[in-house]
Amino acid sequence: MRRKLVVGNWKMNGSRAANAELLAGLNAAGPWTADVAVCAPFPYLGDVALSLQGGRIGWGAQDCSAHESGAFTGEVSAAMLAEFGCRFVIVGHSERRALHGESDQLVADKAKAALAHKLTPIVCVGETLAEREAGETDHVVKRQLSAVIHTLGHCVPQIVVAYEPVWAIGTGKTATPEQAQAVHALLRAQLHAATTKSDEMLILYGGSMKPDNAAQLLGQADIDGGLIGGASLKAADFAAICKAA
Ligand code: PEP
Repeated sequence: MRRKLVVGNWKMNGSRAANAELLAGLNAAGPWTADVAVCAPFPYLGDVALSLQGGRIGWGAQDCSAHESGAFTGEVSAAMLAEFGCRFVIVGHSERRALHGESDQLVADKAKAALAHKLTPIVCVGETLAEREAGETDHVVKRQLSAVIHTLGHCVPQIVVAYEPVWAIGTGKTATPEQAQAVHALLRAQLHAATTKSDEMLILYGGSMKPDNAAQLLGQADIDGGLIGGASLKAADFAAICKAA
């Protein structure tokens, strides 16, 4: 039985005051049977760590460099994140693939850098609307995951995968539970071919998950939790999704 995981992706939102209010609301909510974490912008990670210290909610970052250290202005290494207690790091979010030109291989290298410092990479895969309409969904997500599988080798079981159809992110359009389950099953089969531990691995769904659709999505056999954008910014909404998990 896989324990569910719900992760909030705050993206480039928040302020010290707003974050303190949100985290106070989350600390007061629960308990949940699912594991829960929030991924905050880099400057706030110290505050987030302090607010969540000793509690049940984990925290993470939204990206890391594929490099160890050096002349990479503006980048943050996995070692830096690990140094002050970070547990998760999102890699390959579609916004980074689309807006920052991140390739499948770069995403895989970031996952490898994260694992080298004992962080859990949450590796995002997902197709655009044009790719879905062209019948390319399976091909695209398999290609994205394949780069990670080949790069990580026997370390594959240490990652979390997040299926995030790009057309569902921040749009209010959610994949139906059946659409999401079909892709999750495909990804599980791909993991199964790579590792004997595929049944223990978590595959999260992300894309306009909200309190009113969470239970149905999370009730699917291969959906092991959620990566939540917009709804993670309101304590009541995020808490309701955590409860549904
Ligand atoms: C995301 O950014 O990972 C995401 C799933 O966003 P939203 O929930 O707002 O669609």
